[in-house]
Amino acid sequence: MKESFQDRDGQVVVREMIGTIQENFGLLSEIDGAVGDGDHGVNMNKGFTMCKQLLESEPGGFAKALQALGRVLLAEIGGAMGPLYGSFFLDMSRAARDHDVIDIDVFRQMLERGTNAVSSLGNAQVGDKTMIDALVPALEAYRKAAASGSDFASALSEMAAGAEKGKESTRNLVAKVGRASRLGERSLGKLDAGAASCALLLGAMARSITTLLSEG
Ligand code: ADP
Ligand code: MG
Repeated sequence: MKESFQDRDGQVVVREMIGTIQENFGLLSEIDGAVGDGDHGVNMNKGFTMCKQLLESEPGGFAKALQALGRVLLAEIGGAMGPLYGSFFLDMSRAARDHDVIDIDVFRQMLERGTNAVSSLGNAQVGDKTMIDALVPALEAYRKAAASGSDFASALSEMAAGAEKGKESTRNLVAKVGRASRLGERSLGKLDAGAASCALLLGAMARSITTLLSEG
């Protein structure tokens, strides 16, 4: 297993995220339907599919593909998630763009910057039942693994596990922000759609980066 990959080989990571959203958009809209308006998967699928078309005409590496994804989501998808995921991927891209090689530390900076963008734009805290409930534990698990000397692939696996755990935690939360907050206590017992998509996306990133690290 390698400890880094070339930015120029990283478009596949964004493609894996696109495929994951395309396969799961029905499930995401169903989850959103229970506490929101049921459009989350459809919104995400629209943006990610547009990005797929863009990538066909505009090849590039990891940072460029993340930038394309962020721009499309920001400009084209409705709902709360367009600006939030748009900023997430754009800021991840900004943290990557001066690096030809992505290693455990560069990816940590990417994840930190992306998470900060979502926090400062949406102002949601852990416990508010949003994507933040998947993102922050994922970042914390990744940081902890990196700080304790683990390899890149193991840190990614910790990140994905942290996101899953965080997603599951939203079942026991009352929504405090966004559309679902109108339900108050009635949002209890249901997953949050943004946390579910976030866990899927971080899982896809972990999986495809690990594949890159195991090649060649
Ligand atoms: P809308 O709520 O406009 O229909 P979506 O259905 O696409 O938008 O997205 C809903 C998700 O957005 C929620 O499940 C939640 O995770 C996320 N969300 C809403 N508001 C915020 C916020 N302020 N910060 C972070 N995430 C948020
Ligand atoms: Mg919705």
